[in-house]
Amino acid sequence: MECPLCRSSEHVTLYYAYSRFDLFECDDCKLLFQRHAETTDVARIIEEVYDDRWVAMRDKYAHLTFQDHALFNTLQLEMFRPGKGRLLEIGSGTGEFLFTAQSAGWDVTGVEASASSCKYAKQKYDLELHNALWSPELAEEWEPFDAVVFWHVLEHMARPVEFLCGVAGKLQDNGLLLFSVPNLQSFTNAIYGKQSPLLTEKDHLYHYSARSLMKLLAQTPFQPVSLFTRQVPNHLEQLLGSSTAETAYSMADKMAILTQLQGKAMGHEICCIARKRPDSAPPTSEAATETERLSQKSS
Ligand SMILES: [Zn+2]
Repeated sequence: MECPLCRSSEHVTLYYAYSRFDLFECDDCKLLFQRHAETTDVARIIEEVYDDRWVAMRDKYAHLTFQDHALFNTLQLEMFRPGKGRLLEIGSGTGEFLFTAQSAGWDVTGVEASASSCKYAKQKYDLELHNALWSPELAEEWEPFDAVVFWHVLEHMARPVEFLCGVAGKLQDNGLLLFSVPNLQSFTNAIYGKQSPLLTEKDHLYHYSARSLMKLLAQTPFQPVSLFTRQVPNHLEQLLGSSTAETAYSMADKMAILTQLQGKAMGHEICCIARKRPDSAPPTSEAATETERLSQKSS
């Protein structure tokens, strides 16, 4: 078995055989991946998973998605591009983030493969999402964007290097890339181990750590500007509730745990902000040093 990221085959071992798929682990780059990740038909999986039933479930938690993710992600955009501009979101889901960004003044475009999600986003937020699986061909006629974002999407992409290179082609030279993925080294995974709800999702083809994410970016035209992990308070409360029932955690305890988790790069998601390298050249030694620094900080 060859690692789809670093192409090493020497240190790849079976991580766990789940009932519906196998996960393999590469000891060289620390990537976890499904056996046939690179040839998976992503469109078919999205159709199966993100149906009306999923959207109904999502509707129940839409206010949390808005509070926990949409607002934070919009704030990140504001920090790195206060002048705003044209924004593309790949995998808009039910539209909470795109609606928030639009309200903040961005000129938004959203692409979403699930027809059920597109219908919801139209009804609830009057958003006209493009109902398609992202491909550079879809955006062939579109002007390059000032920012491209995707939240918890990259782990579903069968060929992530190809995906990121395609995205780079639709981004202005000084444009921003922002994305997040579930964190393989999260507190959630530390508590639940191989049965973690993050690892048992069939549509998560890859599980990234900060280290493997850096390796991935190094194979694309992108250079990370910032990489950090984040733990949403809500998720932590659920985790603490399910770990040691006899312990009551005070607010001060929770605050301390939250900040420590983030400091140790064990938050539930990894957030990454990146820009294209000038002329999409190979990494300079300065960029390589910065990549190394961010990677060390987060691993
Ligand atoms: Zn590897």
